[in-house]
Amino acid sequence: MKKAPILIPAGFILIILAAIPAHRYLKNSPVTAAPRKVIIQAPEGDNLWNRGTAPEDPWKAIEQIHGHVGPWNVLGWRIGQRALEQFDTYWGRHDLDITVYIPLATPYSCMADGLVIGTGNSIGRLDIKLAEVPKMEMICVEVSRIGSDAEKILYKPKFDYLEKILTAPEEDIHALSHECFELEDKELFDEERIQ
Ligand SMILES: [Zn+2]
Repeated sequence: MKKAPILIPAGFILIILAAIPAHRYLKNSPVTAAPRKVIIQAPEGDNLWNRGTAPEDPWKAIEQIHGHVGPWNVLGWRIGQRALEQFDTYWGRHDLDITVYIPLATPYSCMADGLVIGTGNSIGRLDIKLAEVPKMEMICVEVSRIGSDAEKILYKPKFDYLEKILTAPEEDIHALSHECFELEDKELFDEERIQ
């Protein structure tokens, strides 16, 4: 749960270097002037693109995907479950647009994996995104339906609860994770309809 160091993988640098000649070529090429045809695939909804099913055991699923179960990822899972209920949809349908506003450091970012496992949304499908905020007080999750801004809900974790789980000793993590599965929504986060 400690802060991860900022590392730039060697592969990333190689990709940048490899991209330089191609970029120079494209800049001078008429190809870039032509409009690109975008083919939209994997649409949201109840269709063959969305065949995933919700994990039967969320604890195990979080452990498998994230490496450990902790109150931060369980909190993300809980918010995800609440969003599915409020938007009258279900796991893996990929019809919600989720933005997680967090300081870009663990353990805050652990919430994002909880949201992925709690909703079936995925980073690769671009239906869950991270956005950086400078302070823990500003953490929130914004959810709307893809293709519609008619309804937008902000889920704002209770600050006292975040402080509790931020400063908890490592030996309490297991019990706090169980507690986070069991507490009522209103003890974990506030909801605000912003649209
Ligand atoms: Zn974590």
